[in-house]
Amino acid sequence: MIIVMKDDATQEQISKVEERLIDLGFKTHPITGDVKTVIGAIGDKRLLKTHGISLMPGVEDMIPIMKPYKLAGKELQKTPSVINIGNITIGGDEIIVMAGPCAIESEKQYLETAFIVKEAGAKILRGGAFKPRSSPYAFQGLEEDGLKIMYEARQATGLPIVTEVVDTRDVDLVASYTDIIQIGARNMQNFKLLTECGATKKPILLKRGLCATIEEWLMAAEYIMAEGNKDIILCERGIRTYETATRNTLDISAVAVSKELTHLPVIIDPSHSGGSWKYVSSLSKAGIAAGADGLIIEVHTDPTNAMCDGPQSLTPSDFRRLMNELVRVSEAVDRKLPL
Ligand code: PEP
Ligand code: MN
Repeated sequence: MIIVMKDDATQEQISKVEERLIDLGFKTHPITGDVKTVIGAIGDKRLLKTHGISLMPGVEDMIPIMKPYKLAGKELQKTPSVINIGNITIGGDEIIVMAGPCAIESEKQYLETAFIVKEAGAKILRGGAFKPRSSPYAFQGLEEDGLKIMYEARQATGLPIVTEVVDTRDVDLVASYTDIIQIGARNMQNFKLLTECGATKKPILLKRGLCATIEEWLMAAEYIMAEGNKDIILCERGIRTYETATRNTLDISAVAVSKELTHLPVIIDPSHSGGSWKYVSSLSKAGIAAGADGLIIEVHTDPTNAMCDGPQSLTPSDFRRLMNELVRVSEAVDRKLPL
């Protein structure tokens, strides 16, 4: 429910309404505009009637929220969310490219790649220390040693880092190293993990589940936001369809649809969607043209010997070439991609 306060409502009246809502067990999200204040109230709406909230001084109206994703949706917030990470903003004019290998394999490999992608114009370093592999026998990541290597690369390059957490027990550990916590496609509906990540103050990169509808994806964002963490970057990374020519099917329409439904920034993962380095360029360009706020791209110095996702990783030279091409695509849609 949205509680709309009168134009001349005093701060005391607004605070009293909020206090009453909190006493009734609601989570409150006040938004103060130039003229009015509205309070988003999430909880059992029947209590609002029985406790006469609409009769409290200063209250003008109560409007039910139709969408189940109240915080992620546009009913409470129409303006796009801009997420600040150091001196980088996601969701503003600039297209942000995150790049790096699928997994951290060694200090040498990661640092070398980190400097290469930085020089090519990437603004955030990616890398997996905890890998959610389909096979229990496949490389599972260097875990905390991998996080330490990423942190070293962060200090050496000055770029923020994004890495995945797969287990609730590791959330604090991962949060202590990383600038952005990634929740992978396979965990998009791991509600405990969403809640734990929501309790951190770190921005969250939320990948769309392999078989998730856009509404389910936004509800996953809602889980995080309900804990008070509003800094969420949505990531479309391809969904399962009947098509087998690509690893997943990049749902480019998800960019347009989510831009209509949510104020959260949306990025595209052209690597896990296409599943081949050959498609990364087209899918990246399509993503930016469709209105995405950024990309997350896998880059490896030796893709044939990569421990994870080599076939979809770009070589440094292909990445550099792509970044140059993306500058023009960004300009064509009135965005900037400074290299
Ligand atoms: C990844 O980014 O390395 C990854 C595992 O992605 P996804 O969760 O989209 O499969
Ligand atoms: Mn990968």
